Amino acid sequence: MNKILITGGAGFIGSHLCERLLNEGNEVICLDNYFTGSKRNVVHLLDHPFFEIVRHDVTMPYFVEVDQIYNLACPASPIHYQYNPIKTVKTSVLGAVNMLGLAKRIRARILQASTSEVYGDPEIHPQPESYWGHVNPIGQRSCYDEGKRCAETLFLNYHQQNDVRIKIIRIFNTYGPHMHPQDGRVVSNFIMQTLRNENITIYGDGNQTRSFQYVDDLLEGMTRMMNSREEFTGPVNIGNPGEFTIKELAEKIIDLTGSKSKLEFLPLPQDDPTQRKPDITLAKKELDNWEPKIQLQEGLKKTIHYFDDLLKNNLVGSYGRK
Ligand code: NAD
Ligand code: UDP
Repeated sequence: MNKILITGGAGFIGSHLCERLLNEGNEVICLDNYFTGSKRNVVHLLDHPFFEIVRHDVTMPYFVEVDQIYNLACPASPIHYQYNPIKTVKTSVLGAVNMLGLAKRIRARILQASTSEVYGDPEIHPQPESYWGHVNPIGQRSCYDEGKRCAETLFLNYHQQNDVRIKIIRIFNTYGPHMHPQDGRVVSNFIMQTLRNENITIYGDGNQTRSFQYVDDLLEGMTRMMNSREEFTGPVNIGNPGEFTIKELAEKIIDLTGSKSKLEFLPLPQDDPTQRKPDITLAKKELDNWEPKIQLQEGLKKTIHYFDDLLKNNLVGSYGRK
């Protein structure tokens, strides 16, 4: 049994990770400030004898004795990370400093949830880990992109300078139950719009692409990375190489929900990447042949079912941005 700290544990990905690690027999501490997460995501775990929940902000130091730290705290959707861009940078950078300081002191392994956004609007396709990226340092997305890039730098520096036991994964667009229903991300937006028979908001011409990964596939890659050989620090891409245009995604969701929604074309936000697809050769090699197993259609069905339940039970309002 490991004792594990998950920052951002009440968020979309963090809450699934809490559940999985508890089911595997670990003791889990979920730390969150509930900026975009919700107690609702972990309420079913509260009776578990080896689960603890802590209200805390990672920009402040925190001390606990654990074996492993998963550092997930950071708003991930453009509307949430752009709401208070200075706080977003602080969360990534000060959060990394505080958690790395903790890992150094207690000799814990620490995994950073980095992002495909470190590649920006990529000129190389698909993106391998060796690509340095094409990021605007002063655009609308830079508080997130540059914050995450700086966090990667800090992870490597703490490893090289202080021998901290680090792991870095670069997560590509991930979706599934527990996503915030109003976070503005494409999968949650399109599903909510189709379930309400509202227009589907396509930004730009809808020909930009993304590669969508179901959350269970991410958890498998993430936990394999945490427990991989000591010398393998990453960064390693964890994503589904299946690539779709945003218009194709909209059509698939209309089809699966049987909705009457129509497509509505709106202006493309600044610096919106035109294409994104992970090269997962390194993950396959280092993580025991890891590769995503869940096809888009299957993952979307599970996610639609979740949002449908939220709507039917009038629970959408319980996910607030604080
Ligand atoms: P999310 O917004 O659902 O989860 C983030 C969690 O962090 C929330 O519970 C939020 O309340 C918490 N948080 C935010 N700021 C905090 C702070 N200062 N102190 C403590 N807690 C704080 O998003 P998610 O999709 O679950 O993302 C989790 C992590 O994975 C993030 O670091 C994100 O950057 C990364 N990631 C996600 C994706 C994706 O497609 N979902 C892709 C790439 C990277
Ligand atoms: N998008 C869209 N309509 C929406 C929300 C998003 O067309 O209602 C587009 C967005 O412009 C981007 C893609 O979908 O090209 C993915 O957006 P998301 O915010 O989910 O993730 P990211 O851009 O960070 O990959």
